[in-house]
Amino acid sequence: MGMISEADARSKIAEAVRPLLPRKMSILQAQDRFAAENYFARLSLPMFDNSAMDGYAVIARDCSPPRIRPSADKKSARLRVVGEQPAGLDRKLRVSSGNTVRIFTGAPIPVGADAVVMQEDVTRDGDEIVVNTDVEIGEFVRSRGCDLGEGQKILSAGERVTAASVALLASQGFAAIAVGGAVRAAIISTGDELVEPGRDLRPGQIYDSNAILLRALLERAGAEVASSEQCSDDADSLRKAFQAGAKNEIVVVTGGVSVGEHDLVQQTLRELGAKIDIWRVAIKPGKPFLFGRLDNAFVFGLPGNPVSAFVTFLQFVRPAILKMMGAADLDLQKVPARLTVDLNNDNERAHYFRGKFEQGAFTSIGRQESHALFGLSQSNGLLRLASGENRKSGEMVEVELW
Ligand code: AMP
Ligand code: MG
Repeated sequence: MGMISEADARSKIAEAVRPLLPRKMSILQAQDRFAAENYFARLSLPMFDNSAMDGYAVIARDCSPPRIRPSADKKSARLRVVGEQPAGLDRKLRVSSGNTVRIFTGAPIPVGADAVVMQEDVTRDGDEIVVNTDVEIGEFVRSRGCDLGEGQKILSAGERVTAASVALLASQGFAAIAVGGAVRAAIISTGDELVEPGRDLRPGQIYDSNAILLRALLERAGAEVASSEQCSDDADSLRKAFQAGAKNEIVVVTGGVSVGEHDLVQQTLRELGAKIDIWRVAIKPGKPFLFGRLDNAFVFGLPGNPVSAFVTFLQFVRPAILKMMGAADLDLQKVPARLTVDLNNDNERAHYFRGKFEQGAFTSIGRQESHALFGLSQSNGLLRLASGENRKSGEMVEVELW
């Protein structure tokens, strides 16, 4: 199998994976998932004219009588308090000229009133008030529908449900909504050299950082990590791990996907009857990337080098998970940035430079080698340069943020 282009790899994966069956769940559980349908406002917001302040519901004209001369002092208005309307049940009070109703924030505006004077601008005098300010029609009244009209779309199919959208759904009386299915993932990290963090290392061994990297990335993408297994480079344990992992929607395996004698992932997958759709993609880092199917699971084989695993996860695994979960937007956020260094890609593969996006500028960081995890940890963005593409310091580029 030759090397395929990044765009071909992406579209092959996009064609293979399908959105999972949507499920109905409580709006709180739905947070961070993707709406499976469009949702529309059942109610206007606010639902009724109501007070924005604790104060008095008035007729504005009563409080700001026309002045005889522009220079004349404002005459304070005196109004009789005829009732009280707290937030809650509408007492159906009425305000007629010369009268006012004591009112509180969120309470329905009594019939006849067209403004609210806040209590700080009023002097109370028994069952009367003296209004010490000019009042305009509509002042401190939150009018029906000014925020949201009935029938307006409040959540689109494929949109991520956020804390704020959960609140909006609740304000509309929705207790549950339909969201895209959840992706369960199995992680398999392979390599005889790997040791779990927290244990002692012997010469030649290294800590397994990919297992935790993948768990973090999978969870951030919204997948559920069902299992994470460390495998040595032998076919038996790999076979067992794959068979167990294939009960999930996806299996993400790291290491062992290259061409060395100890790279047994592809061979083992084939022996188990897997169909390999992609092996080797023209990107740097990440060339040995593998994609295939084992039973009903999609298998993503990521290179063992941590930066390669990171980049191929973001470029190939993340969009697949989002599509399965029913997301409309599969891409990382893209922002324009001014380059602060010259960057050249003389390689035959597209190169993803890791770097820092800060105050509109992008600076590549570290050695740009696929094992350089520290540089990656200092970065927050990727700049893709196509094969042969050269960019000069000061030029504008587009950076992908994670
Ligand atoms: P491989 O893809 O198995 O040829 O591994 C490539 C490089 O990545 C080697 O230097 C491995 O030691 C390293 N590597 C493989 N798996 C991991 C892992 N889980 N955590 C950290 N480094 C790894
Ligand atoms: Mg290995």
